[in-house]
Formats: sequence, structure tokens, C-alpha cells
Amino acid sequence: MKRILVTGGAGFLGSHLCERLLKDNNEVLRLDNFYTGRKENIKHLMSSHNFELIRHDACFPLYVEVDQIYNLACPASPVHYQHDPVQTTKTSVHGAINMLGLAKRLKARILQASTSEVYGDPEIHPQPESYWGKVNPIGLRSCYDEGKRCAETLFFDYRRQYGLQIKVLRIFNTYGPRMHTNDGRVVSNFIVQAIRGQDLTIYGDGQQTRSFCYVDDLISAMIRMMESDPEVTGPINVGNPQETTMLTLANQIIKLTGSKSKVIFKPLPSDDPKQRQPDINMARAELGWEPTIPLETGLLKTIAYFNQT
Ligand code: NAD
Ligand code: UDP
Ligand code: UDP
Repeated sequence: MKRILVTGGAGFLGSHLCERLLKDNNEVLRLDNFYTGRKENIKHLMSSHNFELIRHDACFPLYVEVDQIYNLACPASPVHYQHDPVQTTKTSVHGAINMLGLAKRLKARILQASTSEVYGDPEIHPQPESYWGKVNPIGLRSCYDEGKRCAETLFFDYRRQYGLQIKVLRIFNTYGPRMHTNDGRVVSNFIVQAIRGQDLTIYGDGQQTRSFCYVDDLISAMIRMMESDPEVTGPINVGNPQETTMLTLANQIIKLTGSKSKVIFKPLPSDDPKQRQPDINMARAELGWEPTIPLETGLLKTIAYFNQT
């Protein structure tokens, strides 16, 4: 049995990760300051005597004893991370420093939930890990993009300087049950709007693309990465290469929900990437992983969740 710390454990991905780690018979310490996380996401786990909750801000030092650390603490949706951009960068950077300091003291393995946003608005398509990205350093998305890029730098410098066992995953858009109803991400927005019979809000002309991965596939990749050989550090892309435009996604969700909603067009936010698709050859080769859940199947599971809430 391992003792595992999950920062951001009350969030969307963190709650699914804690659930899987507990199922695999680990002791799980879940750290969260509830900035975007919710108790409902993990209330079904609270009765387990292997599950512990720490209300704590990752920007401050933390002294606990664990074998592994999954560092997920950071708001992930543009609406939330732009609400308090200074705090977003602090969480990415100070949070990474504290968790790396903890990992260094404990000689523990540490995994960073990095992001496809490190590629910015990419000029290379699909994006391989070797691409350095095209990121605006002073725009509205920079607090998140540059914060996550700086966290990657810290991870690799802690490895080079102190020999830490690091694992860096670049996560592409992921969706599924327990996304927030109002966090502004496209899949949750469209599903909630379709269920309520409201117009689906497409930003721009809807021709921009994303590639969506169902949460269960993503969690499998995270655990495989943590358990991989010590020389596997990443960064490794994880996501589903099935690419779609936002217009196609909106129409697909209207069809799957049987909704009478229409689509409407709103202004495109600044620095919104035009296209995004992971090159997952490295994940296939080094983790033996690839997604198994097609978009339609995952959307139906997510629609079922939002229908109940
Ligand atoms: P989320 O907003 O649902 O979860 C983030 C969690 O971190 C929340 O529970 C929040 O309360 C907590 N948190 C935020 N700041 C904190 C702080 N200073 N101290 C302690 N806890 C704090 O987001 P998510 O979708 O679950 O994303 C989790 C991680 O995965 C994030 O680091 C995000 O950048 C990364 N990621 C997610 C996606 C995606 O599509 N969901 C894609 C790429 C990367
Ligand atoms: N840290 C922590 N828990 C630990 C060890 C360190 O939160 O168990 C924090 C500590 O606040 C420190 C940071 O991690 O500022 C970086 O630690 P490191 O050992 O790299 O640096 P130093 O202590 O020399 O500043
Ligand atoms: N988007 C949209 N309507 C919405 C929410 C988002 O058209 O109601 C668009 C957004 O402009 C972006 C894409 O959908 O082009 C994905 O947005 P999301 O915030 O989910 O993720 P990210 O931009 O961080 O990949």
C-alpha cells in the first residue's frame, strides 16, 4: 500500500484520480483549497478510512510523509484561471516549488499535470512534444500558459540539480462527469445549454478545433505515467487525437441530447488557439497507452451525469 498525495484532489480530474487510487488499495491524501473544487466531487469517498482531506493552499509549504505526489492544483478553465490571474501564476509556480521541495525531502516521485496550453496557438499540427510552442507572454491566457511552462522548467531543473524522479504529462482537453456546470469549458457549457433548451454559444465562427479525451482514459494514462520506469520523465502528451470543430461539437451535442436548442455566435476570446490535436506516439511507445473511449460514447456518459445534477 502506498501513501499518495493528490493536490487539487477535489477538482474534476483530481476526484476521478483519488477514486481510482483508492480502488487500487492506496492510502490517499487529498489536498485542496476549494478554489474551484467541490466537496460533492469526493463525498462518496469520505467514508473510506484510507482517504484523508487536507484543506490547504499549495502556495504555502506542506509537511507530510508520502511515497508519491500528483500535482494537479490549479484552476483549469479559462473563466476560473482568468478570474484571479495573479493567484493562478502563484499556484502554478509557488505550488510547484513547494511540492518539489516536499518530493526532494522525501525522495518521492512527483507527477506534474501540465497542459497542451504550453504549445499556445500552435503553428505545428498535430503537436509533438518536441515543439516549443507559440505563447503570448502578456495576454489573458498567459497566467495559465506561462505558469505551467515555468512549472515544467522547475520540474526539469529539480531533476538536473537534485536527481528527483519527475513525471511531466501534457494533458489535452479532457471532459466527463463532475465538470463544473458553470466553469465555462466548452463541453460542459454546450451540454448544460442543450439540456436547458438554451442557445449553444459558439465563440468565433466555430471552425477552431480541439481534441477531447474522456476522463477515464486520461486517469489511466496518469497512473501509467507515475508507475513508468524511472528514466521516463516526459514531457508526454496525453489526449485523444480525434479532432473536431466547435460547430460540429455543438451540433453533435444537440443531436445526442435530443434538444431543440439552436447555435448562436459570440465574439472569440483573445489568444484562443485555432487548432489543437495531440501527437500521442510517445504515449503509445513509452506508456503503452492510447485512448479507448470514442467521443460519442464519452459525451453520452457526460450528458447522463448532467441530466442527474
Ligand atoms: P479543476 O479546476 O476542476 O481542479 C483544480 C483543483 O485545484 C480544484 O479542486 C481547486 O480547488 C484546486 N486548487 C486550485 N488552486 C489551488 C491552490 N492554490 N491550492 C490548493 N488547491 C488548489 O481542474 P481540472 O480540470 O481537474 O484540472 C486539474 C489539473 O489538470 C490542473 O492542474 C490543470 O491545469 C490540468 N489540466 C486539465 C485539463 C482538462 O482538460 N481538464 C487539461 C490540461 C491540464
Ligand atoms: N517544502 C515543503 N515541504 C517540505 C520541504 C520543502 O513545503 O517537506 C517547501 C519549502 O517551503 C521550500 C520549498 O519547498 O521553500 C522548496 O524546497 P527546497 O528544499 O528546494 O528549497 P529551500 O528549502 O532551500 O528553499
Ligand atoms: N468555446 C465555445 N463556446 C463556449 C465555450 C468555449 O465556442 O461556450 C470555445 C472556446 O473559444 C475554445 C474552445 O471552445 O475555442 C475550447 O474552449 P475551452 O474553454 O473548453 O478550452 P481551451 O480553450 O482551454 O482549450
